[in-house]
Amino acid sequence: MSQPIWSLPAEDTQVARALVEAFGAELGGVPDGVWAAPGRVNLIGEHTDYNGGWCLPFALAHRTYVAVRRRDDGRLRIASRQASGQAWEGSVAEVGPQQPGGWGSYVAGVAAVLGEQVGPDALGADVLVDGHVPLGAGLSSSAALSCSVALALHDLVPELAGLDRAALAAACVRAENEVAGAATGGMDQSVSLRAVDEHALLIDCRDFRLTPVAWTLPEHEILVIDTRAHHSLADGQYASRRAACERACSVLGVASLREVDGEDVDEVLARLGDAAETVRRVRHVLTENTRVLDLVAALAEREADEVGRLMSASHASLRDDYEVSCHELDLAVETAEAAGALGARMTGGGFGGSAIALVPRGREEEVATAVAEVFAAEGLEAPHLLTATPSAPARRVS
Ligand code: ADP
Ligand code: MG
Repeated sequence: MSQPIWSLPAEDTQVARALVEAFGAELGGVPDGVWAAPGRVNLIGEHTDYNGGWCLPFALAHRTYVAVRRRDDGRLRIASRQASGQAWEGSVAEVGPQQPGGWGSYVAGVAAVLGEQVGPDALGADVLVDGHVPLGAGLSSSAALSCSVALALHDLVPELAGLDRAALAAACVRAENEVAGAATGGMDQSVSLRAVDEHALLIDCRDFRLTPVAWTLPEHEILVIDTRAHHSLADGQYASRRAACERACSVLGVASLREVDGEDVDEVLARLGDAAETVRRVRHVLTENTRVLDLVAALAEREADEVGRLMSASHASLRDDYEVSCHELDLAVETAEAAGALGARMTGGGFGGSAIALVPRGREEEVATAVAEVFAAEGLEAPHLLTATPSAPARRVS
C-alpha cells in the first residue's frame, strides 16, 4: 500500500519562535521581526496571463517565513534553512543579473530593487528564511520568498513606507526577472501580497486589477497533487507557446489576444487560416478566458459540479490544444476524477509540477491514496499532497 505524503502548513508562532532561535545561532543576535508570505495555487486561467487574459489564483495556508534585521550599511547576510551551506554575504550594490545567483537572487534581488528608492548603501539586512511552501512544485515558493522579504523591508525601512502592496509586488517581479532570471508575469506576487482570506482573486492580466471572489464551497476542498515531475523542456516550450500567440496577434492585427475576447471563437480561428498548431494554441487561450469567467459565475451560484466540469475542461484544453501537460499530470487528473473528484486539472506552466482536484470534504485521503497507488504501480516518484485553503496575504507574524 502506498501512503500519500502530505505537506502541512506550519503554525505561525511555532515557526517564528524556532526561526528567531536559529537566527541567533546563524547570524547572531535577534531579528527585528518575522514575516510570512504565502504560496498560491491557480484554480483556472492557465497561459492566459501573457495574453492579457484572466486567471483565478488563491493564497495557500503554506507560507515562507523570514526573520529579518535591518542594517544601514548596505550589506546583506542571507541564509535559508532549505539551502544549508549556501548562505551568502555581500553588498546590495553588487547585486545584479544572476549575482548572487541561485536561491539568494530572490532575496538579494528584492533588496536591490527596493534599495533604488533608498540609496545603494543605505539599505541592508540580515535574513534567515524558513520555507513551508513546497519548492519547485508550481506553488510559487519563489514569490513567497521574495514577497516575505519585500514586506519585511517595507515595514523596517521608513523610506519605503509610501510603497503600497501593488508596488511591492512589482518590485518582486523585477527582482525575479532581472536578478533571478525567472520569467514571471506578476500573478504570483499579486496573490502573495494582496490575497483576501477565504477568497480567490480574479486577476485581469491586462492591468492587474484584482477582484476578490468568495470561495463558496465549504463542503469541498482543493486537493493539490505535486507530481514531483519536472521535464526539462519546459523553458523552450514556454517560449514557443508565447511566440505562437504573438504570431497569431500579428495575423489578427491585434496587440493582445484579449482584444478578440467576446468575438465568435470559430470566426477568429478561421482568420488564422490553416496554421493548425497556431489555431489550437489560440483556441486554448480564448476558451480558457471564458472558462475563468464561467467558473467565477459557478462559484457565485455555489455550483460545485460546474466548477469541477470547468476544471476538467481546462485540463483537456491544456493537454490537447496547448500541449503543455505530461504523463504524470494526466495520470494524476484521471485518477483523481475516477476516485471521486468533481473535476481536476494541471495547474501552473505544465510539463510537471502540480495538479489540483475539487474533492468533496472528507474524501481527500481516498483520492490522495488512489493517486499515490497509481504512481507507485507505474514506478513513478511518490506524489506529495496538500489541501489548499484560500488564505490570507503576506503579513508580519512577530
Ligand atoms: P516555485 O516558485 O513553483 O516553487 P521556482 O523554480 O519558481 O518554483 O522557485 C523555486 C526556487 O525558489 C528554488 O529553487 C529556490 O531557488 C527558491 N526558493 C524558494 N523557497 C526557498 C527557500 N525557502 N529557501 C531557499 N530558496 C528558496
Ligand atoms: Mg516560481
